[in-house]
Order: sequence, then C-alpha cells, then structure tokens
Amino acid sequence: MTKKLLGSKVVNEIIINSKKECSELKEQGINPQIAVVRVGNNASDISYEKSIMNFMEKADISVKSIVLDENIKEDDFIKSLKEVNEDESINAILVFRPLPAQLDEDKIKYIISPSKDIDCFSPVNMAKLFISDTSGFYPCTPLGVMEMLDYYRINPEGKEVVIVGRSLVVGKPLSMMLLDRHATLTICHSRTKNLKEVCKKADILIVAVGRANMVDKEYIKKDAVVIDVGINFYDGKLTGDVDYESASEVAGMITPVPGGVGSVTTACLVKNVLKACKQKNG
Ligand code: NAP
Repeated sequence: MTKKLLGSKVVNEIIINSKKECSELKEQGINPQIAVVRVGNNASDISYEKSIMNFMEKADISVKSIVLDENIKEDDFIKSLKEVNEDESINAILVFRPLPAQLDEDKIKYIISPSKDIDCFSPVNMAKLFISDTSGFYPCTPLGVMEMLDYYRINPEGKEVVIVGRSLVVGKPLSMMLLDRHATLTICHSRTKNLKEVCKKADILIVAVGRANMVDKEYIKKDAVVIDVGINFYDGKLTGDVDYESASEVAGMITPVPGGVGSVTTACLVKNVLKACKQKNG
C-alpha cells in the first residue's frame, strides 16, 4: 500500500527542536528576531506572512513586520532594507517576492545582508549553495524537500532522482543539495523529450512545475517515492502537480497536496532564523 508522506510530522519535529534551541539562546540573553519585509497588501503575501508569524510564535521567535507602500520608490526601499541590515536586534530578513515592477530585484538582491538572508535571495548565498559551503542559507522550499526525505529515512545516495522543473527557487538549488547527498540526478524542463519515460526511471521523482495534476501513474515507476512540490488552485481547490489518486496506484510513497511539502517550507524558515542567530553570536 502506498505510504502518505505527511508534512505535519516533519513540521512538528522541526518546531519542537527549534523551540528548545530558541530557549537555550534566550537563556544566554540572545533573542532571535526575524524582519519580514512586505511591499503593498497582496493577499497571498499577507496569508504567507500570517503563516510565518504562526510558525515563529510556536518556536518563540520574535517577528518584526515591515510593511512598505506599494508605490515605494527604489531608493526609499533600499534605504529601508539597509536599516534592517544594520539593525543589531534583527538576525534574519525575509523580503516577499516578487517585488513590484518599480523595484529591481536584480539590484536589491545585492543589498540584502547575506548573513541575514534566510531565504537565499542574495547571490552570495546562492553561490555558497553551489560550492557546498554550508555557512550559507539555502532556499526553504528545496530545504523542505530534503527535510521530508530525511524525516522519512529516504536516502538519495546512489538513487536515480528525477526533478521536473529547473527554477532558481526549487529545481536548480534542489539539484545541488541532492548531488551533495550523492544522488544520480536528471533535471527535466519544458523542452525535455520523452518526459514520461525519463520520469519512469526515477527511484525518487520530484515535481515542481506549476501545472495541476500533470504527472499521473504513467510517469511513475512501481514503488517509487513521489514528492509533489506544486501548489496550484484548480477547480477552486489546492492541487499539486501530481494526480494523487492515479499516482497512488503505483508509487511506494507520495506527498499529498495540501499536507505535504508546503508547510515544511515555512518550518525551514524557522530553522534558518536560528542558524542566522547562532552564526552571528558565534
Ligand atoms: P517556475 O519558476 O514557473 O518553474 C517551472 C518549471 O517547470 C520550469 O523549469 C519549466 O521549464 C518547467 N515546466 C513547465 N512546464 C513544463 C512541462 N510541461 N514539462 C516539463 N517541465 C515543465 O515555477 P516554480 O517557482 O519552480 O514553482 C513550481 C511549483 O512549485 C509551482 O506550483 C509553485 O506554486 C510550487 N512552489 C511551492 C513552494 C512551496 O511548497 N512552498 C514554493 C515554491 C514553489 P522551463 O525552465 O523550460 O520553462
């Protein structure tokens, strides 16, 4: 029978461990605090911010919410970001992206302090990922995938792993993390030929495409592990990139959507805040 890989169990473990670490830091007079920088009042940003606050609260981490006008000029945005960079009481910064059109992300990513950049916005952290320098901050969605694999004792070493999707947010950084863990890797994208056949070779199939229910049992080897990173609204429902019912007929283990990787991503932010705090305080 197919095993459902639930994100909630992974989240619980991360929160329990983080709360303990946070209380140890507080005993030494260190107060972890994240600044969340939001431009405008986009509904999905507000909803993500609420979920971040909820997770941080569970781990006893303080949150400073910085809300800027949606029409803010680039110079003013940069000034605010520099203030947060320099604020000694803040250990970690998360800037909601995408930023509005008047703010050039390619310029701003060089301004966020790499030592506080817990979601790998800065090219310094992206470069550290590619050279396996673990002092950097890896992006939280691929980290969430790795946490899922580790929690359920799925060792990628020597396995055929296929990732569908090569974005900078998921596919590319995840490929680096899996190479570091000695997986044999194939990365697919919109120009990949014979996608079904390529996916069918995978012992571990990870899908991050953004197309509801695209992957069904025809793409999956018997007993493979299937990790669905997709989050789509389809027919008024939250739906993954994998057709769960169909895939469950052949997969050995599979993450549901909702209830799979999504919440683990936010829990990984908590881990990264504590990492930033510990690194700053030696
Ligand atoms: P993205 O930047 O749009 O990248 C999508 C990738 O899928 C691209 O590499 C694209 O190929 C590939 N692709 C598109 N159509 C394809 C097809 N028919 N066959 C094979 N590959 C195809 O998306 P993303 O930001 O990586 O997000 C992917 C999914 O993950 C979305 O559903 C998103 O909502 C979800 N997501 C979840 C979390 C979370 O759990 N917290 C976080 C981030 C994203 P090309 O490169 O050739 O265009």
